[in-house]
Amino acid sequence: MNTYKDIIIIGGGAAGFFAAINIAEQHPEKSVAILERGKEGLQKVKISGGGRCNVTHAEFIPSDLVSNYPRGEKELLGPFHTFMTGDTIAWFEERGVELKIEEDGRMFPVSNSSQTIIDCFLHEAKKHNVEVLYNHSVKSIDARENDFLLDTSQGVFECDKLIIATGSNPKIWKLLENLGHAIVQPVPSLFTFDIKDKRIKDIPGVVAKDVEVKVLGTDLVSEGPLLITHVGMSAPAILKLSAFGAIELAKLNYNFKIEVNFIKQDYEWCLSVLKDSKQEYAKKSVVNTTHFELPKRLWKQLVLASNISETERWADINKSQLEALTLQLTAAQFHVTGKSTFKEEFVTAGGVDLKEINFKTFESKRIPNLYLAGEVINVDAVTGGFNFQNAWTGAYIVSQSIAKS
Ligand SMILES: Cc1cc2nc3c(=O)[nH]c(=O)nc-3n(C[C@H](O)[C@H](O)[C@H](O)COP(=O)(O)OP(=O)(O)OC[C@H]3O[C@@H](n4cnc5c(N)ncnc54)[C@H](O)[C@@H]3O)c2cc1C
Repeated sequence: MNTYKDIIIIGGGAAGFFAAINIAEQHPEKSVAILERGKEGLQKVKISGGGRCNVTHAEFIPSDLVSNYPRGEKELLGPFHTFMTGDTIAWFEERGVELKIEEDGRMFPVSNSSQTIIDCFLHEAKKHNVEVLYNHSVKSIDARENDFLLDTSQGVFECDKLIIATGSNPKIWKLLENLGHAIVQPVPSLFTFDIKDKRIKDIPGVVAKDVEVKVLGTDLVSEGPLLITHVGMSAPAILKLSAFGAIELAKLNYNFKIEVNFIKQDYEWCLSVLKDSKQEYAKKSVVNTTHFELPKRLWKQLVLASNISETERWADINKSQLEALTLQLTAAQFHVTGKSTFKEEFVTAGGVDLKEINFKTFESKRIPNLYLAGEVINVDAVTGGFNFQNAWTGAYIVSQSIAKS
């Protein structure tokens, strides 16, 4: 016999729990169930933000907040006017979870533990009688005239309203495609660049505080901190490129050249400063007179790459060495040969085509009473808590739409 629930949420992740709790709170009379394929839910929340869960980002103006979404920028503007950062903070605070802001704007639970968020969700789900059915993998979705029929690994379920919150799951995308939805082909977003280069080989851990990076042959450009890693480069300047360039860089098969301006100044200005240094520091070795607040070890590598030896003094270097150093500082080229996973956060670009979702309700334009929230839709963001904010916003609006319908 089929199991009937008024409202079913497929996927017990960030968006799934947030939707279920908000729906159940407003509809104590309705049966609300989450079908989760894993033996536990919220697994991404658990590992998120290096185990601390970067819940959201301290950006309180909707038009600024949307600029962090390479896919979804236009569509999320309206939804953020309904539910965004301040609402997220209040939602958690009202349920006993205090969030704090870090220097770079990322927001975490004060406990510094993602378990706090998980405990909050499990507690709230229980309090509002959300049934969480683990080890229930949804195999097929039949959208009938007035309800849905779901075949799962543990029997058939029926419901009036269905919410898909399955994250980046290819099997569910396939099922949605069979139901008539267009799926934008998924590609990875938020990754680091693999670079084998003498200049950075021996200096992992070094951070240049504010650089500009361009992907040559494209319009992609970003600014921010840059971290040298064991295999290449990371940190916001790189991660932003990986997000905004997710599709373009996939087409290049992750093989391309970047140009780094380590000091965010133009060539002429830099050259004139270095010419002045030739007078000012004439007797000092170039390697040991770090400029532009660059980390010493990085400065040294850029100097050596400019054909200047460890012992050469400013007075000894010629015009072409000076020009070479200027180029290294303002337009150093590196060959990217692949990508690596950024362990703190990664997402998939792609998913249900944004044109097929009504962003006032997060309901499918193709199938009435079917709602979508979180990463299942073609929205993704740069690193910093924005991906979860998309999940909270979509899930909240789904709950409001269901309350109104
Ligand atoms: C390592 C890592 C760290 C991250 N850190 C951050 C961070 O700090 N801040 C941030 O903003 N974002 C972070 N993200 C991104 C963020 O985790 C996702 O954007 C977010 O989890 C998406 O929520 P969701 O509910 O859409 O999907 P998910 O959280 O992925 O949940 C989907 C759920 O659906 C279930 N499911 C899938 N298919 C089926 C099926 N057929 N039947 C039943 N259940 C199914 C899955 O098991 C899963 O539990 C991180 C991602 C990773 C991988």
